Amino acid sequence: MRAVCVFPGTREVRIVERDEPRLSAPEHVKLRMLEVGVCGTDKELCAFVYGTPPPGSDHFILGHESLGEVVEVGPATRGVGVGDLVVGSVRLPCGVAGCEPCGNGHQDFCTTGKYREHGITGLDGYMAEYLVEDARYLHRVPAQLRDVAVEGAGFG
Ligand SMILES: [Zn+2]
Ligand SMILES: [Zn+2]
Repeated sequence: MRAVCVFPGTREVRIVERDEPRLSAPEHVKLRMLEVGVCGTDKELCAFVYGTPPPGSDHFILGHESLGEVVEVGPATRGVGVGDLVVGSVRLPCGVAGCEPCGNGHQDFCTTGKYREHGITGLDGYMAEYLVEDARYLHRVPAQLRDVAVEGAGFG
């Protein structure tokens, strides 16, 4: 599949051919990306002001404001089914023991600063043909919101 990737080390932004992601946990959901918003954060990422690839990688997939269609679900997923429209959480918990907000699913209030963000910090983003994500970080949106859902997906 094709993905728009940022290479901070060499200061490049280009389309890269990547393997299509696969479900690797029972809670995983595979999305076909329909739309990705572009905001000032993306502009700064493409000017290499900040932006951190996942551990061990020299690049990351851009995009944090998303709208996707569920195309495959793992056996332990709840709340989403094939054909649903979903918006992904930008920020994922830090995983540090004792971080109360992250432990309670409120990672936007993470106190350690070690959170990860799709398309910004430590995680690939959504500007790709497909993405695999844990169902708990996906938010189902009604089909009537198809044309505007991506507008509400960003946090700034
Ligand atoms: Zn945290
Ligand atoms: Zn944004």
